[in-house]
Amino acid sequence: MTRRVDVVVVGGGQAGLAAGYHLRRRYLDFVILDADAAPGGSWQHMWDSLHLFSPAEHSSLPGRLMPVQAGESYPDAGHVVDYLTDYEKRYDLPVQHGTRVDAVRRDGDRLLVEADSGTWRARAVISATGSWSRPFLPAAAGRGVFAGRQLHTVGYRRSADFARQRVIVVGGGNSGAQIAADLALYDHVEVTWVTRRPPRFLPDDIDGRALFDVATARRRALEEGRPDTGGVASLGDIVAVPPVRAARDAGLLNAKPMFSRLTADGVQWADGSRSGADAIVWCTGFRPALAHLAPLNLRGPRGHVPTDGTRALDEPRLRLLGYGDWTGPASATLIGVGRPAREAVGQIHALPA
Ligand code: FAD
Repeated sequence: MTRRVDVVVVGGGQAGLAAGYHLRRRYLDFVILDADAAPGGSWQHMWDSLHLFSPAEHSSLPGRLMPVQAGESYPDAGHVVDYLTDYEKRYDLPVQHGTRVDAVRRDGDRLLVEADSGTWRARAVISATGSWSRPFLPAAAGRGVFAGRQLHTVGYRRSADFARQRVIVVGGGNSGAQIAADLALYDHVEVTWVTRRPPRFLPDDIDGRALFDVATARRRALEEGRPDTGGVASLGDIVAVPPVRAARDAGLLNAKPMFSRLTADGVQWADGSRSGADAIVWCTGFRPALAHLAPLNLRGPRGHVPTDGTRALDEPRLRLLGYGDWTGPASATLIGVGRPAREAVGQIHALPA
């Protein structure tokens, strides 16, 4: 059976919920299809010690402030899951958990959304599937030879899982720095942090709140035709959250340049020397999870869909929300996704019925 709605939102993480909030306010008929069995999007899968890089009041979706977490200046991932669970209920958002969308295709004046539990015909689709389900692993010489354990950020849970092991953490972004710090601050792990270029820490007084201000200033400058202020990337790559600062200040976060190859029992460095390792954690980023859009044939460079804001340039009935700055400044953050969500829904509301 094919169901008819105004809008299908694919993905029920923070971006899908922010879209749902604005769709409700516009009285549009919609459904949110989410592959995860429970609310919370990717936050329910993050490692135990992860904390936000912004205080709660600067990590809110539209309509409802995130409550402060008792005893924590920066909330943990579990607190975000609770907040998103409550958000879903509070606004009575029609989220169908445990529903994976396989394909979105054109069907005359509508888009057809095919999921594992049925088909929907919609005037518009908002894709908000994030990137957690598409971990990226770079090519590495000898990857198949290494006999130890290899995992990506998505598989890391806690430092105690690596007790008495030698662990190499690869990656100079926030995940790499935070996981290296998590392991380094635990006495029973020997950790080596490896980055492609020297790590760039943001100044200690810059947290997510300041980053949002920087992203907003850049958007305003570009909108008003003023010179590009450079945005967040011009400041650095790593937010010095308290554990990262603690590990760095204790001299435990000294990055080495990338190894040249993996060996059976560790890695070989550029000078030919070798180090043993029991595990390698690849904190090497993500790609947008866009496989369900393949039938629309919209892919542009670097696997992105070419967009103007959230609107797919070659399919105006499709919006992309939350993936990164290419779908709106800071749109892959809790506080940043509200604005592009409002714009996307406003534009959908104006589409012909
Ligand atoms: P997700 O949370 O990944 O949700 C996507 C949803 O779509 C999931 O529920 C998934 O099941 C579903 N889905 C995927 N594919 C399909 C499909 N085919 N069919 C149906 N459903 C599907 N942001 C901040 O604001 N503050 C921070 O401190 C912060 N720290 C971060 C730390 C880390 C380590 C990471 C990785 C990110 C952090 N972010 C932070 C960034 C950002 O807030 C998250 O990446 C955020 O989870 C993105 O939300 P989303 O809704 O776009 O995607």
